[in-house]
Amino acid sequence: MAAVVDQTCSAFARVSGDDLRVPLVQGGTTTYANFDYAASAPALAQVTDRVQQLLPYYASVHRGAGYASRISTECYEAARGSVTRFLDAADDQVVVFTRNTTDSLNLLAACVPGDTVVLDIEHHANFLAWTRHGRRVVRAAATVEETIRQLIAELCSRPAALLAVTGASNVTGEVLPLERLATIAHQCGARILVDAAQLAPHRRISLRDTGIDYLAFSGHKLYAPFGAGVLVGRQDWLDAAEPYLAGGGAVREVGVTRTEWASAPQRHEAGSPNVLGAAALAAACDALCAIDSESLATHEHLLADRLRTGLSAIPGVNLLRIWDDSPDIVGIVAFTLDGFVPGQVAAYLSAEHGIGIRDGRFCAHPLLARLGLDGALRASIGLGTSSADVDRLIDAIATLVAKGASWNYACTDGQWNPTPETRPFTSTHATDGAAPCVIG
Ligand code: PLP
Repeated sequence: MAAVVDQTCSAFARVSGDDLRVPLVQGGTTTYANFDYAASAPALAQVTDRVQQLLPYYASVHRGAGYASRISTECYEAARGSVTRFLDAADDQVVVFTRNTTDSLNLLAACVPGDTVVLDIEHHANFLAWTRHGRRVVRAAATVEETIRQLIAELCSRPAALLAVTGASNVTGEVLPLERLATIAHQCGARILVDAAQLAPHRRISLRDTGIDYLAFSGHKLYAPFGAGVLVGRQDWLDAAEPYLAGGGAVREVGVTRTEWASAPQRHEAGSPNVLGAAALAAACDALCAIDSESLATHEHLLADRLRTGLSAIPGVNLLRIWDDSPDIVGIVAFTLDGFVPGQVAAYLSAEHGIGIRDGRFCAHPLLARLGLDGALRASIGLGTSSADVDRLIDAIATLVAKGASWNYACTDGQWNPTPETRPFTSTHATDGAAPCVIG
């Protein structure tokens, strides 16, 4: 099976850093095994290529008659088309470029004309953004079915303008039935927003087919780490609201006593646009559109199942789930290890095995509290993950449980580190006499 998985993987795409060598605390180096795609994913080769091509033409967007400005403006506006195609957005849905998902959700929160209903399993970005705007929290039940019943009860109890749900949990990767939730929201007179920060990198979403009104995601989780995100959605609320930021680019006409604001998307994009970020994000959307989404999902299922099966065979490993009837799970595996503090395990994997995974509460404190935990481990996979990486992670956890760590670790200010720390924290990529990136 390994050969099939790896073959499929390399056929999909190449990502930056897939041959990165990292130092080990005991000496020597190894190839980095990245299991932190859910936090920030490496750049796709198509993304770095597009950015390299655009860099010589980099100039002001919407603000210059020079040739380079015209090219930059074209690229920026064309990027909206790539996002529209990637999400199969409807005609009345516009693409607003933002910094990231958090930015997108805060932007929309200021436009919603009424209450927003949210679940208690959300990432803080899709929870706190609604606080100032009539957030009504529904506690997720033990099953998806029961949770949907609770959502219907809340939406029917008094009018809400918006149902804001995650596409895939950033802790467990569990996916909600979005088309069904969109229908329910609409039947109750509300619209639906999907926080697709974790879903968009793993599954194709059609806004038209699902009826999703608003959707947000981050470029840096979609293999385009150049500082852009998007909010895509129906234009009327965006046009009726105050501009997100006041400034140049968001206006049609400014007088001393009166301002005529532009309509969306420009209305919410004041300031000089991030053309490299938008172009990078567009390149990632184009590249993902070109990949057969069924094969991608199958590839990820194979890897994630391999990881879950391998981990669950190790004594003391507890895999985390919110529900046992979720219709799909993306490539995220969260777990705890009896007798070990998550931060210590993550430090051990990094220091002794060159494996990067995330530990902590994942900006989802209410969900971790529901699960009765004050921390866990999260391994997330993506386009650069191979079955060999998965096996390395499983073997490293099995070794820890069977033999313990071979180095000492200490916690200072909540951060676990090997003691002594022998690894140089210097980027090896600084060449041509440039100052290296020294991290400590
Ligand atoms: N929503 C989910 C589900 C996430 O996983 C994250 C980040 O991890 C966010 C929102 C926030 O994304 P960003 O930090 O890019 O704004």
